[in-house]
Amino acid sequence: MQQIAATITEFKRRRRTFYVRGILPVLLLILFGCGVMWQGLPDDKPIVLLANLIIFASGIWYVISAKRYYRCPACEKVVVPTKADGRPSDISFGIDYSPEECPYCKVKLS
Ligand SMILES: [Zn+2]
Repeated sequence: MQQIAATITEFKRRRRTFYVRGILPVLLLILFGCGVMWQGLPDDKPIVLLANLIIFASGIWYVISAKRYYRCPACEKVVVPTKADGRPSDISFGIDYSPEECPYCKVKLS
């Protein structure tokens, strides 16, 4: 029982870290990219290209930070959504923001 509570606490800590180091910078990057694009439209093509690169980089940042921080404390796999039969989803990348349990090792996470 104590082990389960420790796992849940550690998962919540990891999720908080992912929000601060993953999602927050991504939102700021997207906002900044949109601001840059706003300045460049309608016809300043180099600035629009720069804005697209910034927004693309935010997607890479999201994936890297999720893989780094948003992992199950027991099996160290990224917590992905589950299919209807309870098995991990096959989609190439997606995460479950409020999982009940790990889709791989079935450890309780909340
Ligand atoms: Zn797990």
